[in-house]
Amino acid sequence: MFGISYPWLKPTWEKLTQALEQDTLPSALLVSASQGMGAHEVIDSLAATLLCTNSSNEPCGFCHVCSLVEAGTHPDLHQVSPLEGKSSISVDQIRDCNRYALESSQLNGLRIIVISPAERMTEAAMNALLKTLEQPPEQCVFILSSFEPHRLLPTIKSRCQHWHIEAPMLDELSSWLDKQGEGNMPELYKVLCAGAPLQLLEFGKKNDAFEQSLAALEQFLQANFAHPNDFTSVVLKGDAISLLSAISISLLELQKSYFAPTQSVESHQTLHSLKSKLDYQQAFDMAQRLNQLVEQLTTHTGLNQELLISQWLIESKC
Ligand SMILES: [Zn+2]
Repeated sequence: MFGISYPWLKPTWEKLTQALEQDTLPSALLVSASQGMGAHEVIDSLAATLLCTNSSNEPCGFCHVCSLVEAGTHPDLHQVSPLEGKSSISVDQIRDCNRYALESSQLNGLRIIVISPAERMTEAAMNALLKTLEQPPEQCVFILSSFEPHRLLPTIKSRCQHWHIEAPMLDELSSWLDKQGEGNMPELYKVLCAGAPLQLLEFGKKNDAFEQSLAALEQFLQANFAHPNDFTSVVLKGDAISLLSAISISLLELQKSYFAPTQSVESHQTLHSLKSKLDYQQAFDMAQRLNQLVEQLTTHTGLNQELLISQWLIESKC
């Protein structure tokens, strides 16, 4: 199904539509948004519009091309993502893309290559893509979709026209959540999900692991920094990197709350209780080192997570 159903995507889509009508879109685009923004609607609609033979500003939805796109069988639409069981997009996958970009269209139109999430390309893959972006083949459009555009090589970014989709303003988010029957979402969750509505909805339903991890951290502090393993085992039961990242954001919120009451902290019992056990400087140090740990665990696989998390906790005492 084509179309833009989420209200926060509409401003970006309208601007893209204007560019499509005026035929001013370049041959390489980077569309970025946080996870849980539903940005795939924009990517899918954009690819379909570029291919549709009936309309220049939206996919008509009934031509032969549109039916092929909708069925996922359009021969000129090439989607590149990490292969099953892999976490990254390999250089071989990008070399295939590059070859494909030079072939001619099977349906006498454009060829579209969608790379998603683009930040999952290995460095070798990014370099291989760069060569093609530097000399873009005719009648071929690259659409890079990214949750974390800062992880792309600057040279890749500079070759693409960048479209960033902003999270909705708080009013818009609240009214959308109301309509989904989730009007009472804790303020802290909105911060943790960077205001990305779909992620927030999901998080609201599956917050146990986060709540348990935060409670385990509070108990660790309560016990005067003893038994780090209790916290570590709770975190390692879930998606450790996401949980640590959420705790790191919570600690940042905590820091802000020492200067002025912060709704996200005041309205969350465990986080509020953490505040009485840490002073500003401790919260600052813990957050900063946790941030580094999250970055380390995200960039390098195969590290001893248990050891590094325990180390973070023990060093927090100093
Ligand atoms: Zn069509």
